[in-house]
Amino acid sequence: MAHPSPLAPPADPVDTLLAHVAARRDELVALTQALVRIPTVNPPGNAYEACARLLGERLAARGFAVEYVRAHGAPGDRDAHPRVNVVARLQAPGGLAGGDCVHFNGHIDVVEAGAGWTQDPFGGARVGGRIYGRGSCDMKGGLAAAVIAAEALAASGLRWRGAVEISGTVDEESGGYAGVGYLAERGYFSRPRVQHVIIPEPLGVDRICVGHRGVWWGEVATRGRIAHGSMPFLGDSAIAHMAAFLHRVESELQPRLAQRRTAEPVEPPGARVSTLNVNSVHGGQPEQAFATDAQGRPAGELPAPVVADRCRAVIDRRFIAEETLAEVKAEIVAMLDELRRKRAGFDYELRDIMSFLPTATPRDAPVVLATARAIARVLGREPRLIASPGTYDQKHIVRTGRLDQCIAYGPGILELAHQPDEYVEVDDLLHAAQVMAAAAWELTGSAAGAG
Ligand SMILES: [Zn+2]
Repeated sequence: MAHPSPLAPPADPVDTLLAHVAARRDELVALTQALVRIPTVNPPGNAYEACARLLGERLAARGFAVEYVRAHGAPGDRDAHPRVNVVARLQAPGGLAGGDCVHFNGHIDVVEAGAGWTQDPFGGARVGGRIYGRGSCDMKGGLAAAVIAAEALAASGLRWRGAVEISGTVDEESGGYAGVGYLAERGYFSRPRVQHVIIPEPLGVDRICVGHRGVWWGEVATRGRIAHGSMPFLGDSAIAHMAAFLHRVESELQPRLAQRRTAEPVEPPGARVSTLNVNSVHGGQPEQAFATDAQGRPAGELPAPVVADRCRAVIDRRFIAEETLAEVKAEIVAMLDELRRKRAGFDYELRDIMSFLPTATPRDAPVVLATARAIARVLGREPRLIASPGTYDQKHIVRTGRLDQCIAYGPGILELAHQPDEYVEVDDLLHAAQVMAAAAWELTGSAAGAG
């Protein structure tokens, strides 16, 4: 036991940091509200620039070097809806730049409000301990928490090392190609610029997401032969062929996938198996509404009587870490080839649309361990490691940025995302900001350099 000292012991730097975050509670609420009030709905990609500038101007005023990166030429970018990302970087002052860079990345886009709200979806109202609005949970609250965490570190007076970056990026909800994907191609998510990435998606304040299942989108097309619809026996229906394929998907493939379990801690547990969703089916004549008037008589165009000579289906296959992309595709090809052998007239084409492999950050990665320690310190309980059923921007950081030191960690309840009356708890925001600040302190190397 130490001898009692007449002098007060020096404050623990992490306690100092957590107090600086706690003192910013009202600012954290106000920033979350300000972000929610900018209706960055995607599609089409509204008001991205206004949201990027709100973040950029705030951080520039606090000493961050701020860049606006418009994704010229990327999918979705056009003058009416420019894809403007913001990246802000703060280097530790006083020649203490020897540490690592921690990057907090949040997407600024939100999905449409939809029906069923009792609150204004873009009002950002605070009701009791909650802030309501589209994006409050997914993920403007998390982005605000990261901003406050970084600002608290910068203003704490502590001698910290390395660098902290914040980015607000576009289009996560539609694949992230003009956002993190675009920045990753330009080195923003690679060494030596950055060593650790935290994405404040709303996964719960005591959970660390280490990765996601893989995804493959493919398009299956069947062919037929056109004929008069009153004599379908003279043609060959592409829709009937597609129905035969989809029947086998439902009766054979999906039950088989449901048996294929992963060892990864995917949440919710229902997603700990392989899955396939038929995203869309289009066959025959182009889709249109064939209207009738009040008397039930045709109003406007009528369908022409033909047998469908083409049909296509988009399949959304989510696969587990224990499967390979080649196996996933081969399984579909085998089913289609068998139909071609056994079913008269059946032929198909298969086209890749998009794929991403499963990712899993090493459990002993510094970004996992530091965040876990920070959660234990702030919340007084052990964190849970989880994985995500769907992909998010981590896929670009891993594949293009070649950086596997990446997690998702942030406030909010994932089940509220994309729902009416989406909200985030103010207490969760504050705790997440404290966790992020404490994790950044350790990951930048400041903890090792303190004293
Ligand atoms: Zn999100």
